[in-house]
Amino acid sequence: MKQEKVAIFPGSFDPLTFGHLHLIERSSRLFDKVIVLIATNTSKQYCFTVAERHQQIERAIAHLSNVTVEILADQLVAHYAQERHISILVRGVRNTIDFEYEQAIATANQQQYDKLETVLLYADAPYQHLSSSLIKEVARFGGNLEKMVPAEIAEAMQIKMQA
Ligand code: ADP
Repeated sequence: MKQEKVAIFPGSFDPLTFGHLHLIERSSRLFDKVIVLIATNTSKQYCFTVAERHQQIERAIAHLSNVTVEILADQLVAHYAQERHISILVRGVRNTIDFEYEQAIATANQQQYDKLETVLLYADAPYQHLSSSLIKEVARFGGNLEKMVPAEIAEAMQIKMQA
């Protein structure tokens, strides 16, 4: 029997943007199953808790039957993958800065688990400028988030910024 192709898509998703979502939709067509993995990057300060991000992503992916979301607790992404025998890791690239960053992460991940292959998907043009940090900046000054994040997340951000 053919083995199921399972991919993980790890990231901070603080918050999930239409750029992330587009990547998840494309991955869901490429692989049998996709697990969106909310990972904690120690060098980042987060706007939303992992529980909030989990709920936001769960709602945003509700239309994708082969996609699930999980929280990665106190563990390296590579070790999570190794434990579950998952050998595909999806990440996105918007520009050359992303490319160099992703290259470093992919190398580090492969050093931890040599069967882990990173698959990089190029961001489609409408999403190339979208980043979670830009969105937080727009939200801080009361800008319109309609074209950047799902409506529910935009609303949650506005509430967060007013607090
Ligand atoms: P991390 O903190 O791990 O970099 P992010 O949530 O910032 O997590 O990003 C997760 C992945 O999604 C990264 O590979 C990043 O390059 C990619 N990504 C972020 N924004 C976009 C976008 N607009 N289009 C495509 N890929 C994106």
